Amino acid sequence: MNANLFDRLERSIAALTKTAIATLGGETVSYADLIALSGRLANVLATCGVKPGDRVAVQVEKSVPALVLYLATVRAGAVYLPLNPAYTLAELEYFIGDAEPSLVVCDPGNREGIERLAAKVGSSVETLDARGQGSLTEAANNASDLFETAQRAGEDLAAILYTSGTTGRSKGAMLTHDNLVSNALTLKEAWRFTADDVLIHALPIYHTHGLFVASNVTLFSGASMIFLAKFDADQILGLMPRATALMGVPTFYVRLLQHPGLAKGTTSGMRLFVSGSAPLLAETHREWSARTGHAILERYGMTETNMNTSNPYDGDRVPGAVGLPLPCVSVRITNPDTGEELPTNEIGMIEVKGPNVFKGYWRMPEKTASEFRPDGFFITGDLGKIDERGYVHILGRGKDLVITGGFNVYPKEIEDEIDAIPGVFESAVIGVPHEDFGEGVTAVVVCSREAAVDEKMILAALDGRLAKFKLPKRVVFVDELPRNTMGKVQKNVLRQEFGGLYVSSARVS
Ligand code: AMP
Repeated sequence: MNANLFDRLERSIAALTKTAIATLGGETVSYADLIALSGRLANVLATCGVKPGDRVAVQVEKSVPALVLYLATVRAGAVYLPLNPAYTLAELEYFIGDAEPSLVVCDPGNREGIERLAAKVGSSVETLDARGQGSLTEAANNASDLFETAQRAGEDLAAILYTSGTTGRSKGAMLTHDNLVSNALTLKEAWRFTADDVLIHALPIYHTHGLFVASNVTLFSGASMIFLAKFDADQILGLMPRATALMGVPTFYVRLLQHPGLAKGTTSGMRLFVSGSAPLLAETHREWSARTGHAILERYGMTETNMNTSNPYDGDRVPGAVGLPLPCVSVRITNPDTGEELPTNEIGMIEVKGPNVFKGYWRMPEKTASEFRPDGFFITGDLGKIDERGYVHILGRGKDLVITGGFNVYPKEIEDEIDAIPGVFESAVIGVPHEDFGEGVTAVVVCSREAAVDEKMILAALDGRLAKFKLPKRVVFVDELPRNTMGKVQKNVLRQEFGGLYVSSARVS
């Protein structure tokens, strides 16, 4: 049997006559269209010389044709490699040089610069703009709908997604057909997706959340999605009466809560709100429940592993927890130094194993070997614990752990205490160089609108609630925390900004 993701998808959608994807601009693509259009584009890719196993690098704006290009690439047996449209030419040089794609698809406006980079590795270049026009579409207009889906094994690559790489070089996570299909089917079951669902799709499609979680789950369910170019609170609220589900990053929910239009009446037709890619504040979870009557379902995953855990569809969706391991996924907590498994409620490294976990980093065998245990568990780099009910809690990335005077301080524990102080909207706790302690615990705080909170008040409120060594040495205030497009707080940016707080100016210079 052909294990190509497209072949498996086609078998489940071939009989559907309904809409697969619609846009606010009135564009609608049925399931039959998806099969025909992907066939045309797969023919174009073959004409461009793309062979099974070749990489197709794609740096384009979100559009329906861009999603069809993903399906066509996989259908042709090639490896889809999406790139954030925000990447500059200097950044693209690394990705193109590292991945050596046989084809690069880019916005027509960037063609010239990209052609220079592509020429160095012998890639050809085609274009696709935000409206779905370009040389690729022109060629597809004259191509046949018929394309025999390439034969692929389950462990063959379907995609390479580069990790965001806040430290060191970005790494290409190699994802197989089996990785993607197994996770899509698991999530479809776990979240009860059916052909009756209509998803509001406002996430980017160069990242695992919007490309695989949102799009694959919708398509494998035979459901429909409404594609928005980006997050827009007015548009999302306007669509809710026609939709059943929303998948978002925590900032979506924070911003929707700031909108006066959010109420029980607006969300009454919706059945599911999913959050992930960054921590959802317990406070946001509670406020959302109070305003809408819906408990947000928080899940945890990463580029390398697809989704690992999810709060239950039925049962307690615990604010601040990322839920239970998904079926067939094993999660354990280990001592980061020894790899020894830790008991319930002890904090350590989160490790995962399952059909969802990637094959390794592209052309980095040593890095791959060092991130897997001999028994096949992947070392996620996230610190967390599993409670007595089996719920996983994330305490932050290992690299964000603060070590002060030889003691470990888990930022999340301090952030939770600070966030509970009246007048505080949110916080980020970081470690920055300290002459006596190695690192000084530092709280970066955003106040709620019109709240008058100062450093003294925060420190007084924390006194007695946290062991002395965990107390921030300084509290600084900012208007907002720096975040990337997936809503993750960029602690590296904060560490840079406040890196000189405890070091005498003579040493800084
Ligand atoms: P990415 O590879 O960009 O999807 O980022 C994956 C990382 O995002 C994980 O390793 C976690 O650190 C973080 N992450 C994803 N989902 C959650 C969540 N629900 N709560 C906290 N952190 C999360």
